[in-house]
Amino acid sequence: MKKINKTLLSNITILYVEDEKMISEEVSFFFKKYVKAFYVANNGIEGLELFKEIKPDILISDIQMPKMDGLEMVEKIGNTSVPIIITTAYSDIDYFLKAIELKISKFVIKPINLITLISDVQDCVIDRHLHDKLFKKDNLLKIVDENVLISITDKDGIIIDVSSSFCEFTKYNKEELIGESHRILRHEDTPDSLYKNMWEVISSGKVFNTEIKNRKKDGTLYCANLTITPVFRDDEIVNYTAIRNDITDKKKLEQLIIEDDLTKLYNRRYFNTILNQEIRRLKRDDSKISLVSIDIDHFKKYNDTYGHPKGDEVLVEIGKVLKQYTLRSSDYAFRIGGEEFCLLFSNLEVQESLFYVQDVINAIKNLNIEHKNSKNSDVITISAGLIVQKASEIVDEETLYKYSDIALYQAKIKGRNQVVLSEFSTKS
Ligand code: GH3
Ligand code: MG
Ligand code: MG
Repeated sequence: MKKINKTLLSNITILYVEDEKMISEEVSFFFKKYVKAFYVANNGIEGLELFKEIKPDILISDIQMPKMDGLEMVEKIGNTSVPIIITTAYSDIDYFLKAIELKISKFVIKPINLITLISDVQDCVIDRHLHDKLFKKDNLLKIVDENVLISITDKDGIIIDVSSSFCEFTKYNKEELIGESHRILRHEDTPDSLYKNMWEVISSGKVFNTEIKNRKKDGTLYCANLTITPVFRDDEIVNYTAIRNDITDKKKLEQLIIEDDLTKLYNRRYFNTILNQEIRRLKRDDSKISLVSIDIDHFKKYNDTYGHPKGDEVLVEIGKVLKQYTLRSSDYAFRIGGEEFCLLFSNLEVQESLFYVQDVINAIKNLNIEHKNSKNSDVITISAGLIVQKASEIVDEETLYKYSDIALYQAKIKGRNQVVLSEFSTKS
C-alpha cells in the first residue's frame, strides 16, 4: 500500500462534491486528518460556487447528482489547471465518454477505497508540483522515490534500481526485482512483438511509449502507461529509465464501454463505432466488407422449456464460438441485443464469406445443446443473413445492417439453421 505523505498533503485544499451524505461524511472524516482544508458540496451548483470561492488545489467529484451533475459542473468550470478526480459507479458508463473529453485526471471506481483515493490525490499533487517545478531539489529525489513508479535498467534490460513506490505497487521487494528483466512483470496476453518493437525503438536511442498489461507479484493484473527513455553517456546508451502511470481503472471502464456483460463480446455501442470505422478504412482501397446478422432459432421456446438462466448459458456458449471464429485483427463479433449477434469481416469474396458463415452455423449446431421443443431441430441452431459489398457500394451503415437483417429474416422463413445471402450483395 502506498504511504500517506503527510507533508505533501498538509498544504492542500480539497473541494469534494458528492450528494450522498454517508459517503461524503466518511471521505471527509478521513481526509480532514491530513489536508489543510476539506470542503464538501452537495451538488454541482454548490460545487461550482465553492470552486470559484475557495480556489481548491484539487477537485474530487461524483458524477450522478441532482440539480447539476459532476461533468456539467466540470464543463462549466472550463479551462483549469486544477486536477480533477471523478468518482464513478459502473452504471455511469454513459458519462464516462464525456469525462474523457473533459480531460479528467483520474477516475476512482465506487465504492471508494479511501487509500486509493488519497494516493490518487497525492499523485495529482506531485504531477502538478513537478509541472510547476515547486519542489526544492533535495526533496525531489525522495518524493520521486515515494511516488513515481520508476525502474532503471542497464543497457541489456536488467533492472538495476527501482523506486520504493514501484516496489509497493508491484508487491515485489527491491532485491527480488534487481537483477531481473521487466519480463518478471509480463502478462501472458502481451505479444512478443511488443517487446521486440520496444527494443528496436529504445536501442536506437528513441523514447518508447505504450500502454501495457502487467502482473504484480500476487498475480493481480494492472495496466500502465509506460514510457522508457534511454540514458546516454558520451553518445552511448548506458541505462534505460522506465516510468509508469497506473491506468487500470480507466482501462476497466473503457472495456465496460465496449463489452457486453454476459458474453464478453463487443456490444451494440461498439458495433456502431466499428462499423463506421471499418467502412471508412475499407473505402480507401475499395475492399469488400461482409456483415452477418445472426439470431438464435426458437430461443423463446428454449427459455420457456429450460428457464432463462439456461438460456443465458446458451448465449455465453454461442459467444465463445463467435469469438473463436473472429481471431484476425479485422474480424469482429458483437452481441447486438438479446439473442442477436453480428459478425463483421473484410477482404473475403462472396463465396468465401458464405462458406465461412456456414462453418459458424455448423459449429453452433455441433455444440449439441439439446432443444427438444425447437421446431426445426433437436439442438440449438442459428439463422444468419449475410451481405457482402464493396466499400464503394455501401450507402451507409444503417442500410448495410438493414440488408443483412432482411436476409436473416429470409433465412428464418426458409426453415432456419441456414444462411441467406442478401440480394444487394456485390455480384462476383
Ligand atoms: P425465431 O426462431 O423466429 O428467432 O424465434 P425466437 O423465439 O428466437 O424469437 P423471438 O424474437 O420471438 O424471441 C426471442 C427470445 O429471446 C425472447 C427472449 O426471451 C429471449 N432473450 C432475449 N434476450 C435474452 C437474454 O439475455 N437471456 C435469455 N435467456 N433470453 C433472452
Ligand atoms: Mg430475435
Ligand atoms: Mg430468435
